[in-house]
Amino acid sequence: MRILLAALLALAPTAAHAQNLTESTAAVRDRALADRTAWEVLESLTTEIGARPTGSPAMTRARDWGVAKLQALGFSNVHVEEFPAEAWVRGPESAEITTPYPQKLAILGLGRSASTPKGGLEGEVALFTTFEQLTAQPPGSLKGKIVVLSQPMPRTQDASSYGALSRNRVQGTAEAARRGAAAFLVRSISTDDTRLPHTGSTRQAEGPAPIPAAALSPPDAELIERMVARGSPVRIRLNLASQSLAKVPAWNVVGEMVGSERPDEVIVVGGHLDSWDAGTGAVDDGAGVAVTTAAAKLAGQRGARRTIRVVMWGAEELDDSGEAYAAAHKDEVGKMVVVSESDAGSGRIWSVRLPKGSAGHPSVQAFVQAVAPLKVIVSREPAKGAGSDVAGLVAAGAPAVGFSQDTSRYFDLHHSADDTLDKVDPADLAQMTAVWASFLHAAANSDVDFRALAAAAP
Ligand SMILES: [Zn+2]
Repeated sequence: MRILLAALLALAPTAAHAQNLTESTAAVRDRALADRTAWEVLESLTTEIGARPTGSPAMTRARDWGVAKLQALGFSNVHVEEFPAEAWVRGPESAEITTPYPQKLAILGLGRSASTPKGGLEGEVALFTTFEQLTAQPPGSLKGKIVVLSQPMPRTQDASSYGALSRNRVQGTAEAARRGAAAFLVRSISTDDTRLPHTGSTRQAEGPAPIPAAALSPPDAELIERMVARGSPVRIRLNLASQSLAKVPAWNVVGEMVGSERPDEVIVVGGHLDSWDAGTGAVDDGAGVAVTTAAAKLAGQRGARRTIRVVMWGAEELDDSGEAYAAAHKDEVGKMVVVSESDAGSGRIWSVRLPKGSAGHPSVQAFVQAVAPLKVIVSREPAKGAGSDVAGLVAAGAPAVGFSQDTSRYFDLHHSADDTLDKVDPADLAQMTAVWASFLHAAANSDVDFRALAAAAP
């Protein structure tokens, strides 16, 4: 009897704590659903800064905006971490079909594109539908050609079509150059049917000289397909000017809600502050910056046991900020409780990939219960990564949590001139914020050890 009583006494605080955490997590969720911070941050960023490519004057203003915003929202230890990054600056661009039926084309140069020679370049189209069809061509066989890769992108909720097709843009330039092509045009990795092309980064081949590379709007890619189908050679004239800058200063902007009991145990979340130049970076990735900032504030402002850190990464689109952050914080990774980046637009979260082996933990259950009414399910797959800016931390051993958003509409907007604030639904932003805030609250107010859970998992 005495043993049973002692056992009950030992258990009681844990059960009571779990109950409290479930209730307080639901309360944070409800506060987040009614909170306007994420919307106000996004409205401020897109109105007062707008497009902010790494290396641009706007990015310098965005850095100062980030510092001021984090301070105004009550974050501590607000500071800037500088690192060298690559930049690519767009110049004048035009393209037209010269024969057989002269027509103008809607294009947008890709990040790392080379410029065309003065006066432009003209070449015959070599059309491919798939990446494999292009890579099946022997070396040198496309000498002087303008390669057009025209595969269309299906709409998916889980972004799997972007996963499958983004290499058309990222790797197509190098594959075309290796075969002697003079230039590369890719159908925009887009689910939309407007005449706005979608840019993005590409990679140049090592060895052959860099070549001009641009995205075609979806209707223009189809126009070229129809002309090629008629059988006679199709020729395109291209004029692209740009500047590649090897190293410019870039910045990760950081703020913390410092933990009251275990300040050195840190949860690292954020979005990327840089954007492409065509739109105003509302869905990519102003939304991620806004949601994680608001969620950290909501979860931390009434005191959390662990520290919640927000990072506004400063050079995601050309791949530099995650590497810089991981290098600067490699000695701290062992103290990182869990890390995640929000970088998939402003659609609602519908699934969460938990750190491996953690689903049964009381704090994780407090989170799962809080977000079930928001139509969030738990994936059977544990989180592997959680955004390119935390990939270096995850590779160094930091546990990751991933929130899957509905991307059905994201790729209508992503990297295009249509990435603007009016496309964001404040109710969707509030749902995202509620999911993030619930997770941050539950993880920051427990002693859940995701590394130990993962190690113990089968
Ligand atoms: Zn992004």
